[in-house]
Amino acid sequence: MKPWAGVIAAYRSRLALPDDAPDLTLLEGNTPLLRSAALHESLAGNLQIFFKYEGLNPTGSFKDRGMVVAFARALARKASVCVCASTGNTAASAAAYAARARLRCIVLLPGGSIARGKLAQAAMHGARIVSVSGPFDNAMRLAQELAAQRPEIELVNSVNPYRIEGQKTAAFEIADTLGDGPDFHFLPVGNAGNITAYWKGYREYAEAGKIACRPRMVGFQAGGAAPIVEGRPVSDPQTVASAIRIGNPASWKGALAAAEESGGWFGSVTDDEILDAYRFLARAEGLFVEPASAAGVAGLRKEVARGRIPPGSRIVITLTGHGLKDPDMATCIAPPEPISIGPTLTELLAVIEA
Ligand SMILES: *Cc1c(COP(=O)(O)O)cnc(C)c1O
Repeated sequence: MKPWAGVIAAYRSRLALPDDAPDLTLLEGNTPLLRSAALHESLAGNLQIFFKYEGLNPTGSFKDRGMVVAFARALARKASVCVCASTGNTAASAAAYAARARLRCIVLLPGGSIARGKLAQAAMHGARIVSVSGPFDNAMRLAQELAAQRPEIELVNSVNPYRIEGQKTAAFEIADTLGDGPDFHFLPVGNAGNITAYWKGYREYAEAGKIACRPRMVGFQAGGAAPIVEGRPVSDPQTVASAIRIGNPASWKGALAAAEESGGWFGSVTDDEILDAYRFLARAEGLFVEPASAAGVAGLRKEVARGRIPPGSRIVITLTGHGLKDPDMATCIAPPEPISIGPTLTELLAVIEA
């Protein structure tokens, strides 16, 4: 078997990418599709559940799949600077690929909290970091205005169609591994680029005859940031899941089309439900994800409880990003409280038997 060489090398013939775009890569993609160890046991219906663990991409989130393709295309058209608005992971990924591709990188962060790991990544990779007051939408609008005015600047948010091209490769990998599409695909939704991309991937594989089953796409938003569920933009989105704290999704239309065409739907989960799933994944599955990444799991629990998932269904849940991204949230949920002892076995035994 040839060693994995990244998503462009693996799927170039299925990506709408100019021929002169280079084989840029940090060896993103090829992430684990892991069978659940505990989640299916905790739910009714004898479900077959798989996690697509995107936290194992080079910068710790699925954003790398789209970013590598966006940067390959930016190099092909000789852009010299990239800009993005970001709640964190887009910035971390853009900064890494900019370093690799030797482009300057400007990231616009919304006011308010950004997970510390993500900020550290953007800074370490040398991005120019700008904090824009107000919600994410302000930063997004500014990034778009800047890129529209300056041809040498590439906008690398998911409104860039090459991002979606790259991200659809996760659906290809799932289908290649399972031999078909699953019955349902659950995932968290923020700007809705990812659900749009997965659906594009499944649709294209079905059209190419590679799969017979196209999954129902089920997207979950946080209750305090659920514009698609409510059918209107949310002006002050609130949730602990910072990666999906989005009030006006850029790929809203793509998300609606994915749900409608696939027979899927959107739902919302509370922060408590998200944090519960976050803890469960770490404790019972051995999977440390960031809070937003647990929204799909929280969503599946809810839909099973409502009886919307037929017994025996095969389900894939995308775990979008790594838990180390947000160390503050982790230490808040599970405060590390070491018990101090002297270096004797007697004292150690006393502690573990207590
Ligand atoms: C970006 C991101 C999301 C949301 O994805 P969208 O494409 O914006 O819907 C969810 N979880 C994590 C960890 C992310 O980085």
